[in-house]
Amino acid sequence: MLTITFLGVGSAFAKRNFHSNALIEAWTNGPHTQKAPDDNLLIDFGSTGPLALHHLKNVAGFEYLSSQGRICYPAIKRVFVSHQHADHVGGLEELALANRFLHNSHGGENARPQLIGDTRVLQSLWEQSLKGGLRAMEGDTATMTDYFSILELERNTPNGAGFQLLDRYGFSIFPTDHLCIQQRHDWPSFGLHITDSANGDTAFFSGDTKFDYETYSPMLQAAKVNFHDVQLRDQPNPVHALLSELRTMPEEIRQKTYLYHYDDTWDQPEYAVVQEEFAGFVLPQKRYVIFD
Ligand SMILES: [Zn+2]
Ligand SMILES: [Zn+2]
Repeated sequence: MLTITFLGVGSAFAKRNFHSNALIEAWTNGPHTQKAPDDNLLIDFGSTGPLALHHLKNVAGFEYLSSQGRICYPAIKRVFVSHQHADHVGGLEELALANRFLHNSHGGENARPQLIGDTRVLQSLWEQSLKGGLRAMEGDTATMTDYFSILELERNTPNGAGFQLLDRYGFSIFPTDHLCIQQRHDWPSFGLHITDSANGDTAFFSGDTKFDYETYSPMLQAAKVNFHDVQLRDQPNPVHALLSELRTMPEEIRQKTYLYHYDDTWDQPEYAVVQEEFAGFVLPQKRYVIFD
């Protein structure tokens, strides 16, 4: 079984929900018979990620994320980084430092989760985001590999670059049209296409992206379930998919598409109809089954 739990479902500026980061869990059987998954993966860990995880560890079924009242960071085995915005990477400094300095007495060795991402994303992540807080250590300096084991994905490999969980669930990345400096895809940002090799079922996770139905429609159509970035209000030159644009997708796709990355106005009456137009807004801190 493969499940997904959003730590938060909010936009970069949301205050009523945490940032849109998600916990993927891979199970041999499932949460009904296992206390913890066999493997797991965070999709992004933004500025509000640590507080979101602090809440999630107290939710029934997520006790394995708790250790003596605080977050058990070593329980997070892998982190995929979709792109470099702070709502997706701003919690990684805490995760790295906590693994190195708070939890190293537990297993003897420092926990070094696997950090997964496109080569350019990971290089910029260290050089431009993480190095400022993680390089200096008492009497020493550190590099990214002191905190993480690194899995670089080269996006131009055949069939899309990727990785697997439990030798069954395949994750491949695809570039998203999120923020374009001069030309499409020139600022690296990625979504995930997930395949269950047991039966060929697929799922689509958009990552941060403009509306790009032309590119994504084969994946959206074939998938069992879709999770799509949404911006509720229209604006000129958006860097997210507008709700008004997502409404133009065919009914059969909308009905299996959950929306996330929404702002704090989601519960205004004008958006009540979203529950009928789509699979609905993703609810935070609720475990959804992707593949049985
Ligand atoms: Zn974002
Ligand atoms: Zn973004």
